[in-house]
Amino acid sequence: MKKFYRELVDLPGISGQEKYIRKYMRKHLEQVSEEIIEDNLGSIFGVLNKNIDGPTVMIAGHMDEIGTMVEEINNNGTIKMIPIGGINPPVMISQYMNVVLDDGSYVPGVVGSKPPHLLRDQSSKQVSSFEDFFLDIGADDKKHAEELGLKIGQQIVFKNNYTESVDGKKIFSKAWDNRFGCAMALDIMETVKKEELACRLYSGANVQEEVGLRGAITSSFMIKPDLFIAVDCSPCQDTFNTSDVGGSLGEGFMVRFYDPRAILHQGMKKFIEETAKKNNIKFQYYKSRGGTDAAAVQLSRSGVLVCTIGMPSRYIHSTTSVIHKEDMKAVKNVILAMLKEIDFNKIKEIRSNA
Ligand SMILES: [Zn+2]
Repeated sequence: MKKFYRELVDLPGISGQEKYIRKYMRKHLEQVSEEIIEDNLGSIFGVLNKNIDGPTVMIAGHMDEIGTMVEEINNNGTIKMIPIGGINPPVMISQYMNVVLDDGSYVPGVVGSKPPHLLRDQSSKQVSSFEDFFLDIGADDKKHAEELGLKIGQQIVFKNNYTESVDGKKIFSKAWDNRFGCAMALDIMETVKKEELACRLYSGANVQEEVGLRGAITSSFMIKPDLFIAVDCSPCQDTFNTSDVGGSLGEGFMVRFYDPRAILHQGMKKFIEETAKKNNIKFQYYKSRGGTDAAAVQLSRSGVLVCTIGMPSRYIHSTTSVIHKEDMKAVKNVILAMLKEIDFNKIKEIRSNA
């Protein structure tokens, strides 16, 4: 496993505050790209084969993670928070979080939890809404918190507790959604650098996916792709008693054939299935209730062929999610296999299979 995966999950970056991730992406894209481009919101891409006569392929993860922002510093020194991205209130309780100061250093804190002694018969109250939470950074009062460097609007991220499972096959970490996609974009770029592709390649990451697929709208307008691949983590249901949302850890990449905002193009579906089968890459079908950047790019300009190559992940949008190393390989291998096949004729064939 390349170092990108391990290093990117540790960095802080909620929606709209992706600068540390962008800096990392730039540093590593620079080593493998002919050119780096950035749009006005901060999405960043490396370019390969810029001048060849071929279709434009865009591959993107998204840099932002779910977390919170400092909404207010209370008089008693605790911090009121705004959730950024979809977080269920129960995952917040008793978690370690870090406030990221303007200079990039951290002030650690814990989300206060009411002990049973203070709740008595109303334990459900503890998890009713975000309004009930505060972050305790150990400040004596508001002035003390300000002296420590706290300011309204600063990002607050979950403290990472990166761990491998005992069998060495799975990894627990914050922010797999979607530093995985960012790392994969770098990994792909580094891998195809010396290969002869028949397409122009833009590989990188968007900003602000978790707050409504915002970055993908502007980055795709800039890049004008003929084909777009979103690389993103999708939730597994395999440890829960539900079949409502699919996905099992270790069963290969996910073919997202339906979500409420993007129905997989039938030509793309056939292309992905055939490519995976030909190369013996494991995959599973996946229906989602949420969207990815593919939904935004699909509607760019006069429309774009899009797909999401899904990475199975347990417990996303919480403090810690779990991925499987074999699934990482499946995602990488199918994208590489697709890239090798894409030329003008392939794009024509995909379109004609709609
Ligand atoms: Zn995501």
